[in-house]
Amino acid sequence: MHGSRYNVILVGGGVVGLAVALEITRRFPQQQLLLLEKEEAVARHQSGHNSGVIHSGIYYKPGSLKARLCVAGAAAMIEFCREHGIPHKVCGKVIVATHQDEFPRLEELCRRGNANGLTGLRPIGPEELRDIEPHARGLRALYVPSTGVTDYAAVCQKYAELISAHGGTILTSAAVTGIKHYADEIVVETARGVFSTASLINCAGLFSDRISRMAGDDPGVMIVPFRGEYYDLVPERAALVRALIYPVPDPRFPFLGVHFTRRVTGKVDAGPNAVLALKREGYRRSDVNLGDASSSLMFPGFWRMAAQHWRSGCSEYYRSLSKTAFVGALQRLLPEVCKADFVRGDSGVRAQAVKPDGSLVDDFQIVPSARTLHVLNVPSPAATASLLIARTILDTASQMWAWAR
Ligand SMILES: Cc1cc2nc3c(=O)[nH]c(=O)nc-3n(C[C@H](O)[C@H](O)[C@H](O)COP(=O)(O)OP(=O)(O)OC[C@H]3O[C@@H](n4cnc5c(N)ncnc54)[C@H](O)[C@@H]3O)c2cc1C
Repeated sequence: MHGSRYNVILVGGGVVGLAVALEITRRFPQQQLLLLEKEEAVARHQSGHNSGVIHSGIYYKPGSLKARLCVAGAAAMIEFCREHGIPHKVCGKVIVATHQDEFPRLEELCRRGNANGLTGLRPIGPEELRDIEPHARGLRALYVPSTGVTDYAAVCQKYAELISAHGGTILTSAAVTGIKHYADEIVVETARGVFSTASLINCAGLFSDRISRMAGDDPGVMIVPFRGEYYDLVPERAALVRALIYPVPDPRFPFLGVHFTRRVTGKVDAGPNAVLALKREGYRRSDVNLGDASSSLMFPGFWRMAAQHWRSGCSEYYRSLSKTAFVGALQRLLPEVCKADFVRGDSGVRAQAVKPDGSLVDDFQIVPSARTLHVLNVPSPAATASLLIARTILDTASQMWAWAR
């Protein structure tokens, strides 16, 4: 036997890995669990650098995992926040059409929302839009009352606290560097020692494809990092936004277009855009990692993706470099804002799985194999849906590994 022995090891202390670990300690308390996180604390990447929105589930294809797990996950997230005193607010949002061309997409969103079981969705005109968001302008809009906001870093802290209270172990500063399979165990090498386990769940976010390969499996996709940059609305102008103001998204892209978000703290930010990052955890434009960049460039799917989406990629880059262009996109929703109202804010990096044919994986992708399970694509709304993603993963894993309650 190699090192301390566990029934299950999870890789990754983001909202998904933590939610899965929490679900294990609740449903299968007899399973000895170890969660390994490479950073000094949990939620240092996507889970701590996002918009903090509790998505309603309106955007996703009816029947998809995203649609099912987001709608139920949003309700579970609100209940979790309520139960544990985590700041949250169900503030609603408006999706605003500023062009007639957008009307069919707005109608399609309303159809999707109703098909996904959202309640209270309401198409509204310019006057009602003004009652809800007095400074927003549009020709038509959709009011989504069930959308909310929270602080996912605080949610992660609470997940971690509960995991430890239920007997699970979380080890930070423990980057996984090697995974070896033996007849009756999997051996995991980390920066803090060697551990052995009967089964392994990979929730490594931006590195989930590499962990899958390290475990001897073929992920079949590559994780391509897309940085999302925000501007903050200066506090004196924050009153221009009551809650959440979104544009009508382009259905070809999973990213939603720059929008306004009033966070639980009351701060209002604008963004995020979506620019290709040259480093998997590259939060600044100047961040480059030659290994990350060259592995993206050597993946045939990358070039096929670039061939399909170069136009929108270029305009995202332009908006990243030009504050005038970024603010121009926001002025369509809120004509009163000007460049001086914004200062550069935070950024986050999304993990987007890309297939060899260049297409972006749209739905959540969870891939089980004999003794491992890989979570390969959990972009937004995965923070919202984390409790339900965890339940789904455990339904599969517990059957596969014959865990009895
Ligand atoms: C800009 C932006 C805005 C977003 N907005 C929203 C939103 O409003 N609402 C919403 O629901 N979702 C949103 N999302 C999506 C959401 O944040 C992610 O889907 C979610 O956080 C993914 O969680 P995760 O646990 O898979 O990944 P992560 O949070 O990235 O966690 C993965 C963890 O694995 C660790 N790890 C990696 N490699 C190793 C290794 N070798 N050894 C040990 N540990 C390792 C990392 O350090 C990291 O902590 C947004 C995302 C971004 C980037």
